[in-house]
Parts: sequence; structure tokens; C-alpha cells
Amino acid sequence: MNRRDFFGTTAALGVGLAAGTAFATQTTEEMDKRASAKLRICSQVGPAPGDNMEKKLELIKKYGCEAVEYGGECVGKGKEFFQRANDAGLEVGAICWGSHGGDLCSEDESKRQPGIDDLKRAIETAGEMKSPGVIYVPAFNGQTKLTNQEIRKWLLEFLPPLAEFAAECGTSIIFEPLCRMEAYFLRQVADGASIARDVDAAAGKKGGIGVMADFYHMDTEETSQMGAIISGGSYLKYIHLAGGVQQPRRTYPGENSMTFVDGFRGLKYIGYTGFCSFECGCAKENKEEAFKESIAFLRAQWAEA
Ligand code: MG
Repeated sequence: MNRRDFFGTTAALGVGLAAGTAFATQTTEEMDKRASAKLRICSQVGPAPGDNMEKKLELIKKYGCEAVEYGGECVGKGKEFFQRANDAGLEVGAICWGSHGGDLCSEDESKRQPGIDDLKRAIETAGEMKSPGVIYVPAFNGQTKLTNQEIRKWLLEFLPPLAEFAAECGTSIIFEPLCRMEAYFLRQVADGASIARDVDAAAGKKGGIGVMADFYHMDTEETSQMGAIISGGSYLKYIHLAGGVQQPRRTYPGENSMTFVDGFRGLKYIGYTGFCSFECGCAKENKEEAFKESIAFLRAQWAEA
């Protein structure tokens, strides 16, 4: 980086700082949105008890969840998958889409456009299903040779029109920060929120892009769940629920010693009303009983927060 580039970078950072001071003009009362926050539980298909999709949807509903989170298998089949959820009395959570093999941020530029086209199809499907968004990971470890700075710069080039498209479809692209064991790029909620803010700035309007917080990844990367979630603020669109790195690792909330109270305080403070979705294993033999107990545990943690 030459001296000119360096000053260009600091000028761009100044935009962010100005946005930060605007936030501080709210009164303490206006910033505290606890009265409107809700715990709305969702589950991915895999972690839910039940031997087949129909049974899983039935049990997700039975134990008080409001939505189901699908994987990439629903892309292009929005009407069918929306109907399945609807027949079970459920809404649709996010589409857990992932990184598309890291193609969108590959150092091999020929791989990028097919990945971008597929993300656009996933956004379209999310819109059809009234889903809050498509969970997007720029790259898992080993999927790109681009540096941290190069990925961030490239995201700001290709994402603004896609974010606008997502907003038109009534949905969002949702960055998922991951722990360092899985990704070197994008590990903290505040980082994802700041990239979303910069995508908005590049698009010239707000909407269609956000970030999520996953309790398992936060356990490694964040010093405060509450601080991380408040940093996400209005960009926080989704939550993944899982125990942390203690044994049994990444299992149903309540199966290991990790508490959710601190993070739930953050969700209450920002007035979060999006979904909190199970993405975890189960250590106990009776999965249905364990699912029921975990939901009761989460509700108790929410009440305590
Ligand atoms: Mg996750």
C-alpha cells in the first residue's frame, strides 16, 4: 500500500466514524428496546428430533418453535418448501446457504460469477418463502488465497447490487461470522455489521444486508456475547443456537455449562424480534426429550436476562 492508498483508507474509515457518532445522538431511553424484544425459536431440519422431514416439522411445531430453517436444498423450490412449513404451522427461517465452496471470493476469478448467480437464486427463493435471509459465509479456511483486505474490498464491489436485489425480494443477505477454526475472514459480529454498513454505503441506501450471531462461534471469538450482539444492532438479522466449546461441544443449549443470559440481554436491549435457530448436535439418547428440555432451558435463560 502506498501513502496515497493509506490516506484513501483512512478517509473511508472516517465515514464509519461519522455514522457512529450519529448513533450516539439517541437518548438512553430510545436505545433501550427491551419492551419490544421477543424470543422466537426456530430449528434447522437436522438438529430437530424425528426420523423424516414430516415428523421433524411436526415436532418443531409441537415444542413451541415458530419456524424451520432449511439448507440449500430448497433453492429453486421456494413454493414447495414454503408450503411444507406452512402445512406444519411454521414460518421459514433463514436459508443456511454457506460459502458455495468459497467460489464468490475465489482467487480464480472464473469461479466467481457462477457463485454470484447461485446466491441470487437463493435470494429469490428466500423471498418466495418469506424467509428473513440467506446465510452467507465468504470463505471457510482453505477455500481462497485472497487476503483479509482483498476479500473485504471485493465484497464491497459485488454485494451492493445483490443487497438491493435482496431488499426488492423482501429478504436479506446475512453474513455469518465463524470461529477461527473454520474461517480466518469474518469472525466477529461487529466486523460483519461494519461490512454490511459499508455495503449499504456503496449501494447508497440501507437494506438487504445484515449479520447474524452464532452462540457457538461467539464462545471462541467474542469477549462478551451481549457486547457482540449490541454491536450488530439493527444489522443483526438472525441467531444460531448451540452450546459453546465446553464438553459436550456444540450441543443443544443447556447440555453443557454455557449460559445464554448475557447474549439474551443483548437481544433484549436491541429489541430483537427475529428468529433464534437450533444449529447443533444432541448429546442425549432421547433426542425428543432433550429438544423439549433445551427449549425450556432457553425460555428460562430469556426470562433471567
Ligand atoms: Mg452457525
